[in-house]
Amino acid sequence: MNAYELIRRKRDGAALGERDLRFLVGGYLRGEVSDYQMAAFLMAAAIRGMTLRETVGLTRVMMESGRVFDFRGPGGPVIDKHSTGGVGDKISIPLVPIAVECGLRVPMISGRSLGATGGTLDKLESIPGMRTELEPDRFVRQVIELGGCFGAQTETIVPADRSLYALRNETATVESVPLIVSSILSKKFAEGISGVVIDVKCGVGAFMRTLRQARELASALEAAGDAMDVPVKTVITAMDEPLGLAVGNALEVEEAIRILEGRGPSDTTALTLRLTAEMLLMAEFVSNIGDGETLARRAVSSGRALERFERIVSAQGGRLVPKAAAYGLPPAKVVRPFTAPSGGFVSRIDARIVGETVREMGGGRFGKDDAIDPSAGVVFHKKRGDEVAPGEPLLEIHASSDDAARSAARRLEEAVGISAGPVPCAPLYLM
Ligand code: URA
Repeated sequence: MNAYELIRRKRDGAALGERDLRFLVGGYLRGEVSDYQMAAFLMAAAIRGMTLRETVGLTRVMMESGRVFDFRGPGGPVIDKHSTGGVGDKISIPLVPIAVECGLRVPMISGRSLGATGGTLDKLESIPGMRTELEPDRFVRQVIELGGCFGAQTETIVPADRSLYALRNETATVESVPLIVSSILSKKFAEGISGVVIDVKCGVGAFMRTLRQARELASALEAAGDAMDVPVKTVITAMDEPLGLAVGNALEVEEAIRILEGRGPSDTTALTLRLTAEMLLMAEFVSNIGDGETLARRAVSSGRALERFERIVSAQGGRLVPKAAAYGLPPAKVVRPFTAPSGGFVSRIDARIVGETVREMGGGRFGKDDAIDPSAGVVFHKKRGDEVAPGEPLLEIHASSDDAARSAARRLEEAVGISAGPVPCAPLYLM
């Protein structure tokens, strides 16, 4: 067996077996298969697609590339949540402590930013001192002691996803259903969970632009879960405009804390409660979504979820300052308003352009070793459907310099549409 032969077979449309995939992925991690060979394989897989059997094989190989945990047993059901990636999607951050306060254990392993979409790890690492790359034993201890954890792929935890994720981000191979499925499920199944709820994002700011593509991804995720005997529940939600009001790492953590304080924006608050409720339903803690949302809402209104979040953050070295401006998160050097060129109603905020703008300001990566500017981002004052007067601020740009803010403003002009007449709000749940 050699890498050249396997790449050739995939290029020509053959399905590879689990042994072939183990040879390629294992060889890549040991440095015996080069970056350019792995990139060629990923491109062949993205173009040719993969069968369900192949996708499951790749998921298993990636999952077993590092330590596989097992939290099932006494101590409460272990259920996780994941999103396929969107702009302004900070839901995992408030959801973990809320779900833990409702009685679940959530050993969450997340990813970094991909393309124009944000990554939970980059967001959390904007908290001074916060570490997400945990040793496996530390990860286990924290889940046992605190019920929840925000972990990263590391050299010992799904290292294959860590390497392939970064390589896909540089080789235009992110938007491939089997590669997304194996990336997500290898992380989630390495956690030793009893089930996972996956928010499949659909729209211009997501990898799946159309409902047909989102459905295809949702059924591939559920089918792979079935084949590996772990329940996977998918929910398809809209990603045409950014979720919530903040986009950018530190700004999104600030919004996540507001959700935990019970004063978050209505869409991010509602989605956090709904996805927590799906997890509680999966764990059979409740018999319907409404009861799950009530439990989740109580965890917030009692202040318990916020307290749990602070304990998880400080266990991971993070230093939040509850009474300080923006909780002690790093502020941007320049904050400038972006005003409405005309009056009317906001008809469109293009999530992709917003995500790309924030990435260009330093909020995301182009190369896998690029540093992140945690403070770069935008905060919306208006969303789709809102009325706006000429010259009124639509949003604020948070940038590292006047030049960066000016070029972001030029980009954002294309992102926002204003119409003369009222515009209905778009639905958040698509399926
Ligand atoms: N989220 C992941 O973890 N992996 C992907 O490939 C896309 C979204």
